[in-house]
Amino acid sequence: MKKERIRTLHSLVTMLTYKRKHGTESIKDFCARYLHPTFGHPDKDGNYVLIVGDKPNILYAAHYDSVHRSDGRQKVKVSGGVATLHPDNEVECLGADCATGIWLILEMIDAGIEGVYVVHAQEEVGCLGSKALVKRIPYWLGAIDAVISFDRKGQSDIITHQMGMRTASDAFAHSLADILGLGHKPDDGGSYTDSNEYAETVSECTNLAVGYTDQHTAKETQDLDYAAELRDALIEADWSQLVFERDPSVVEWAYGQDWGYPFRGFQSYYSDSLVEEDSLDDYYEIIRDYDKALAKMLEDWFQSPYDLLDELQRYGADPFRSPLLRRYK
Ligand SMILES: [Zn+2]
Repeated sequence: MKKERIRTLHSLVTMLTYKRKHGTESIKDFCARYLHPTFGHPDKDGNYVLIVGDKPNILYAAHYDSVHRSDGRQKVKVSGGVATLHPDNEVECLGADCATGIWLILEMIDAGIEGVYVVHAQEEVGCLGSKALVKRIPYWLGAIDAVISFDRKGQSDIITHQMGMRTASDAFAHSLADILGLGHKPDDGGSYTDSNEYAETVSECTNLAVGYTDQHTAKETQDLDYAAELRDALIEADWSQLVFERDPSVVEWAYGQDWGYPFRGFQSYYSDSLVEEDSLDDYYEIIRDYDKALAKMLEDWFQSPYDLLDELQRYGADPFRSPLLRRYK
């Protein structure tokens, strides 16, 4: 194995020694050591976001929380190219879900691969970080054609469906498999990860196998040889060859079946206006902190709340989502 490979794999194994339960000292230490130096401070929802390149169209995603139950560090055993939890530890988990994803992201950033890189907060408790991020509509989101989570078990899947709903086209999955050249295959059995939160907005939202097994258990393993191969493939891939086909406004179920999940509703449209992220963020902050005063100001400006909804429609809002209008109808 090349020296360079051993050095970077050593850093993955060290990452696995941090338990990453939300709110603990050890998750803070992990972020301070691995995320802060590259990403700076997280956004107000706790997500670490870094943009590499000029208007990148691919978002690479991971999450920094794990399903550990306690604070602190743990021992990791490496044998035969596979990392596992050392038997000395309490029965928790290895946490390759999603440390391996973060490691891949750091390696890609280091190699200068263009993209929006997001290490999300609190995925394991309902994708809270990604949910909040998508809701805020960051200025760069309109340019994104694909969201690729590095958060899938095994070594072969490129997820096309999450919770039975299509989030990526087969054409996209095949094109991703082709540029990686590691024999990946489309798989419609995905459960639910951060990329799913983007599926109403972004064309192709997938989850890629990163080589762990038995995640969330004490038997969790991470294949380090596969991780290294995947890292090299991600860095050498010709990302311009990806195919974007899925229409995010169209809902499609696996097996052509409606499983009874609520209809996704209208697609939101984002204006291409070049609003700087900072200034938009400042407005969000004002809306949050001065909601009552803002309501009074809008009352002065508009004849009725329905006029305000009309006006908001010009900015891409769907007025029929407002309970007010539903009551009115
Ligand atoms: Zn995960």
